[in-house]
Amino acid sequence: MKAHFRLLELSTTKRVELLDITKMVEEVVGDSNIMNGLCLVFAPHATAAIIVNEDEEGLRSDVVKWIEEVFPHNGGWKHNMIDDNASAHLASAFSSSSRIFPVKDGRVFRGTWQSIFFLEMDGPRRRRIMVEVLGE
Ligand code: ZN
Repeated sequence: MKAHFRLLELSTTKRVELLDITKMVEEVVGDSNIMNGLCLVFAPHATAAIIVNEDEEGLRSDVVKWIEEVFPHNGGWKHNMIDDNASAHLASAFSSSSRIFPVKDGRVFRGTWQSIFFLEMDGPRRRRIMVEVLGE
């Protein structure tokens, strides 16, 4: 089995924001020369997430709206007394810091409307994403 790893670096510009990283992930898989296996996309952050869905402007703003409504920034959270970002921790805990995709015939196997996003919830800041491709 082969393994191919890359660290991607991003800069976010808003407190809550979605960045489409599909092309970056597909490039790592393409460069891996792995034809069949799995691709792990992992954000080593407690206030961000990796999500999969349609890259459509209205839906991107709906995701931001949903996060801000379900986890309001000034929600009386105890963790805000430490570094004022409890809403981002909560939203991250109830989404996911990673996603796994099948790799088939050298490509990320995903649905037409399944783009891969980095979900920033405590920006703006610099972020890293780990992409690990395993297979043959
Ligand atoms: Zn915190």
